[in-house]
Amino acid sequence: PRPYGSAPPELREQTLVLVKPDAVQRRLVGDVIRRFERRGFKLVAMKLLQADRGLLDKHYQQLRQKPFYPALLSYMTSGPLVAMVWEGYNVVRSTRAMVGDTNSAQAAAGTIRGDFSMHVSRNVVHASDSVETALREIGFWFQRDELVAWESSDRDYTYGP
Ligand code: GDP
Ligand code: MG
Repeated sequence: PRPYGSAPPELREQTLVLVKPDAVQRRLVGDVIRRFERRGFKLVAMKLLQADRGLLDKHYQQLRQKPFYPALLSYMTSGPLVAMVWEGYNVVRSTRAMVGDTNSAQAAAGTIRGDFSMHVSRNVVHASDSVETALREIGFWFQRDELVAWESSDRDYTYGP
């Protein structure tokens, strides 16, 4: 395989995905991972952890004044979650499209939320909403050395030469 770094920068966009505690409890981790793998994105970091309030206050800093924030905190600390970093072309926007509407009740069939959930308060996954947010969020959840730099051998079949 070619050395990591030989791909053009647009193929190395990264996003943060969280498989939230409801999805871990419901044994949906594999189904969520499978969707991103089949799309062709590359997994570059993953861990199971129990999030604490300090981490979630940073992650959801723009939501801290919302009335539902206490409920969101208690949901997100109710059990372990899986944090992942996915990499590839347009991964931030594509991942948001695959995740679907924030409100699961309105999420389109075929999206992760539309297929696996019904209510906004238990909506299975998180995905960063912009490239800038993704950079910041990845830094909250992962140390630099937890991201694995690797070049996938199928790159020409995924993107063309
Ligand atoms: P996202 O980017 O699609 O996840 O949506 P937001 O950034 O707007 O909200 C973050 C998370 O807060 C959502 O994924 C939900 O888990 C939760 N959330 C958003 N709106 C509500 C709400 O009205 N009620 C409750 N209980 N949770 C909400
Ligand atoms: Mg959001």
